[in-house]
Parts: sequence; structure tokens; C-alpha cells
Amino acid sequence: MIEDTIAAISTAVGEGGIAVIRVSGQDAVPTAARIFRSKSNLMEVDSHTVHYGHIVDLKTKETVEEVLLTVMRGPRSFTAEDVVEISTHGGFISVKKVLDLILQQEGVRAAEPGEFTKRAFINGRIDLAQAEAVMDLIRSKSDRAFSIALKQVDGKLSRMIKALRGQVIELLAHIEVNIDYPEHDVEEMTSNYIREQCSKVIEQLDGLLKTADEGKILREGITTAIVGRPNVGKSSLLNALAQENKAIVTDIPGTTRDVIEEFVSVGGIPLKLLDTAGIRETEDVVERIGVERSRSALSDADLILFVLNNHEPLHDDERRLMDELSHRPVIVIINKTDLAGQLEIEEIENRFPQESIVRMSVLEEEGMDRLEAAISSLFFSGKLESADLTYVSNARHIALLKQAKQSMMDAIDATYNGIPIDIIQIDVRTAWEQLGEIIGDTAGDSLIDQIFSQFCLGK
Ligand code: GDP
Ligand code: ZN
Repeated sequence: MIEDTIAAISTAVGEGGIAVIRVSGQDAVPTAARIFRSKSNLMEVDSHTVHYGHIVDLKTKETVEEVLLTVMRGPRSFTAEDVVEISTHGGFISVKKVLDLILQQEGVRAAEPGEFTKRAFINGRIDLAQAEAVMDLIRSKSDRAFSIALKQVDGKLSRMIKALRGQVIELLAHIEVNIDYPEHDVEEMTSNYIREQCSKVIEQLDGLLKTADEGKILREGITTAIVGRPNVGKSSLLNALAQENKAIVTDIPGTTRDVIEEFVSVGGIPLKLLDTAGIRETEDVVERIGVERSRSALSDADLILFVLNNHEPLHDDERRLMDELSHRPVIVIINKTDLAGQLEIEEIENRFPQESIVRMSVLEEEGMDRLEAAISSLFFSGKLESADLTYVSNARHIALLKQAKQSMMDAIDATYNGIPIDIIQIDVRTAWEQLGEIIGDTAGDSLIDQIFSQFCLGK
């Protein structure tokens, strides 16, 4: 039982017309009732009801704010404790004043970052994977990332992990029986059984890890390199995409004059755009660093936007680049269609499929819709779009899934190497613990503290 009551501003500071203060704990309702003047008597109202009234300063008897106050009694609340949420419509100063009035009362203290979510976890309302999903929700960069996180809050990943652990525990029980009754002489049968069951679990782990690759794409954005010779319009394209699609994040630190990054959402697909310097051989040292950066950006890219100038014949550099790019996910952009055509279009059409060639004029803002369509169809040709999969996208979860898979493979190896069953059991148990760490069943206190400390205040 957690004794103290916590309070914090739960909405982003300085934004929006209203701010919400959240109070959670056994004293939440009496604490709020003391400073709330209203027709409703908070101590007697039903759970999940909203009340209009005023917050007063008990010392000065002054009215501080006009508020709407929501009472949610545990366990049917976010933290599973009694929760009061106070919606104020004033600016930061009056919100802060209301919070101060609450914090002045006995038994109430300011919440630490993530503490509301941590309480939901401690009180068994959500598991660790769900708590992390809440954090991802707060941070998610795109609609798709948001819906993945939402599914995890829903507990879909957790349910799958629990089912997997169920299979592992069954295997453990089976091994246990064999250890307890070795005279049954079922060593060989047990070895076979271990291999079979471990393989089954590995198969499912692989399935989850496969979605992890896709989840990563969606979470961080599809790394997209814009390449081409100088002056073809790469920067113009980047700016056009950023403007039309409202850049979500800009000014990534560590970028140089040659590669800048920009997060944009194109038709709901998050792209991390890299604008690379023109790819060409050069003697200039500074320029060469730029080119090397471009090449590494190129090798890291999930998607390449290869820009050509409609107004000029193909350059040798561009022919070389076409060779390099022929087996990569690439969209060839023939830019500057507003100018007279000098480019050998046929040569390009012979090298790249029709659907991956887009004609446009960035200057005249013509053809942007075709580019967006080409990007969507390349990535959501059924595979990603239709999948009702639970994406594993959290780096910690991915690492643990990989470790669990390794433990399972170790167990299989051990059966071939004549290792005693009670030693093999250790690998299986390790896998069970690693899976448990994902949902917080076997996670240590320090890990839990560390995860929750990453939350922002008020969540
Ligand atoms: P980068 O060197 O590849 O990044 O090319 P920039 O984006 O800096 O563009 C080079 C020049 O081409 C600039 O003067 C642009 O205004 C111009 N430009 C870009 N796109 C178009 C286009 O579609 N049509 C025309 N006529 N000019 C363009
Ligand atoms: Zn440029």
C-alpha cells in the first residue's frame, strides 16, 4: 500500500488553453475538497464525475481559479488509486498557484517524473511493456508510431510474451519431472522434446523480431537519402517536402553543412530525410568529407531519392550512381520538367521500373503528389499496411527478445553436446526470465526506476 499522495501538472507547460493537474493517492479527494468551492460535496460524489467550481486559497480566502474537477476512485483509475484531475483554463501562473495550494497540504508531495505511470505498474494495472508504451505514446513522432504504441498500451505485446512464457514454463516443468525421476530413463526423449519446444519458441521469437525491424522503420522514420549531382534540386526538394508535410523535428545536433536531417511525414509515413552533398570525385578536402558522408548516408538509407536534372544530359557520375543504386529501394526523380528536356529518359527507363520514376518540377510545385504516391506504394504494398501485427519497437524489448532466443539456442546446442539436463534447464530458465523482464515480472528495482525516470513530469 502506497501511503502518500502525489500531484503534478500533467499537461505540457506553456501550451494549450487548458492545463490539468493530476492528484493521485488515498488523500487525493480530501485534499482537493479542502480547497474546492462548489455545489458538489466532493467527499460524497460518485466516481467518474465532473464538477464545476472554484479553487480558493485558504489563507487569503481569495478565489484563485475557476476549474472543472474530475473524481475517479480507485481501482478504476489510471494509477488504480483515487485520482482527482483539475482542469484549469488560466495561464501557467494560476496553474502553478493551484498546484502549490495542493502541495502545501499534509501528506501530499510533488510527483517525480513518470511516477503516475509507475504507480499504475506497482498497483498491477499495467505491466512494464505497457508503461514503456505510454512513454512512447508521449514521444511518438508519427501517427503510425502512435498506433503501434497504443496497441502496446492495450497489452497485445504483453499477452504474446505471456503466452510464450507459458510455453517455456511448460517445458521447464517437463524437464523438472525428468530431473526428479531420472530412473525413468527418458533422457533421450527429453532431449528431443527440448529441441522441439525450443525450436517452436525460437520460431515465434523470430516472428516478433521480424516485426521489430518493421517497427524500427516506423518508429524512427524511414531513413531516406536524397542524392544526385550538384544543382539538380536536392535541397529544393528537401525544403518542399519539409514545408508541405510540416517538419516534425528539425535541427538534429551533429549535422554538418553537407548532411542535414529532417523528419517529415509523407502520407502518414515518417521519413528521416538526409540531404547529401553532390556525389562526385573531388580534390577539395572539405568537400571530400562531405562526399564520404554522402556515401555512408547512402549505404545506411532505407530509401534513396535519386534526383536528376531534366534539363541536362546524363553525366558519367550519374551513370555510375545508377549502377550502384540498381539493387536498392530507389525512386528516380526527374526534376525540372518545367525546362526543356535534355535527359536521356529512355536510358533511365531501361534501368528502373516505371513505377519508381517520378517526373516533377520542385520549382513549380508540380508532381509532389506523384512522389508521395510512389513512396507509399513502395513501402505499403500490402506488407506493412495490412499487418495486424504487434510491432516490437522498443530497443530494450528487442534486446531481451534476442537474448531469450540465444538462451533457447544454447539449450538446443546443449542437448547435442551431452550436457546434463539440469544444466540445460538453466538456459531455459534464463529465457523465461529474459522474457519476464520485458513485461516487468522479473525486472529488478533499479531497472524499473531507470525506466520510469525517463518519463516527463506529470505522466
Ligand atoms: P542541389 O544542389 O541539388 O541541392 O540543388 P538546389 O536545390 O540547390 O537547386 C539548384 C537550382 O535549381 C536552384 O536555383 C533551384 O531554384 C533550381 N531548381 C530546383 N528545382 C527546380 C525545378 O523544378 N525547375 C527549375 N527550373 N529550377 C529548379
Ligand atoms: Zn543542396
